[in-house]
Amino acid sequence: MDESQSRTNSWSQAALNFLGLSLDKEAESLSASKEPVAPLKTRSKPRLDMASGFTPEDEISMKLSRINGAINKMTKEEIQEKLASIGLNTCGVKDVLKKRLKNYYKRQRTAQCNRALTEDEVLKFDYLVVIDFEATCSETNDNFVHEIIEFPAVLVDAQGHVLSDDFQRFCKPKLNPKLTSFCTNLTGITQSQVDNAQYFPEVLVEFENWMSSHKLGTQHKFAILTDGPWDMARFLKTQTEICDIPFPHWARQWINLRKAYTAFYGCGKVNLQHMLQDLGMTFQGRPHSGLDDARNIAAIAARLLMDGCIMRVNEYQRDMRPPAGSSRGGGRAGSGGGGGSSRISSSKSRLTQKKPQTRERQPSGSRSYHGESADIPQEGDNLEDLLHYLKLQKS
Ligand code: AMP
Ligand code: MG
Repeated sequence: MDESQSRTNSWSQAALNFLGLSLDKEAESLSASKEPVAPLKTRSKPRLDMASGFTPEDEISMKLSRINGAINKMTKEEIQEKLASIGLNTCGVKDVLKKRLKNYYKRQRTAQCNRALTEDEVLKFDYLVVIDFEATCSETNDNFVHEIIEFPAVLVDAQGHVLSDDFQRFCKPKLNPKLTSFCTNLTGITQSQVDNAQYFPEVLVEFENWMSSHKLGTQHKFAILTDGPWDMARFLKTQTEICDIPFPHWARQWINLRKAYTAFYGCGKVNLQHMLQDLGMTFQGRPHSGLDDARNIAAIAARLLMDGCIMRVNEYQRDMRPPAGSSRGGGRAGSGGGGGSSRISSSKSRLTQKKPQTRERQPSGSRSYHGESADIPQEGDNLEDLLHYLKLQKS
């Protein structure tokens, strides 16, 4: 038994003791299986214990169920104490803490089983690219066509580290070059910042160059992540139509953080504030500054990754779902960066191109995707968000 295994053993024993479970009754700790289970790829059939009729994996699963049951009965303070003792983050509401502790044991099980990870246990990307556009607006947004005025992006690696090499550019609006005072007050973006900026198509090229400089789409797979469906489905879509350029390939699918969060922690509707609050975090910087928003969204995504969330692409640009029969969200297309460099560096040559006349269509009735088309209000939207969405729709 190597050092990490023996460390894991003692954690498992301590956990069971802490959780009030008798090791005798449990027979063995999670990691005390007499023989490691052979990796899935190489074993033909799980070995049955003739006395119990269970495979070692069954037994580990049953132990996990008991541990999960015990965690459900623990107080918030007990869970925090346990998390602290194993060196994990102790911030957040009880449901978040429970999930963190349960997931810790689940990962241990995977390690102890010594088996190949299943499809659902593997992240499909090396990096998340977190984007949060700011756009021109008015107080009512009545008949207002939103143009992107800030294009920020923040990188998060698959281990949950927010990287420091951000991307941020302001963009000069074409239809409404003069910002409303409402917009400046909301976003903090000044008239001179947009006056001195490039138009969107040039900024898009710079962004794609930045992605290339990080080898996103070539050496590294990536997924776009946003807070809600609007950034890609509404702002970017409108912007490409205004500029008469094709919708970027990498933006056809993305991870809606709100959905990932809700599914992982098993909670109800959330927005950025709720997520931060429930995780015991506070907003850093200026709300509605695109870069600050993106950094805070990135911090939440990083927390999810550290807690063991296996994020998947969960939204597609309307009418741009992958055709039926390809892999579920998270496959080649789902990873955003599954394709080669041409996929992200193509805007240079597209600046003067017209939009394509045809689009990929999802055959009706196909059920092969987890993800949803994005042009609809999403679960996780609160009333304020829905009103905002309706304003955007109206305009
Ligand atoms: P956010 O990412 O929440 O900062 O919002 C993105 C964009 O949506 C902003 O740059 C505005 O164009 C628009 N927006 C956000 N909140 C409002 C609001 N309360 N009223 C009008 N437009 C808004
Ligand atoms: Mg924002």
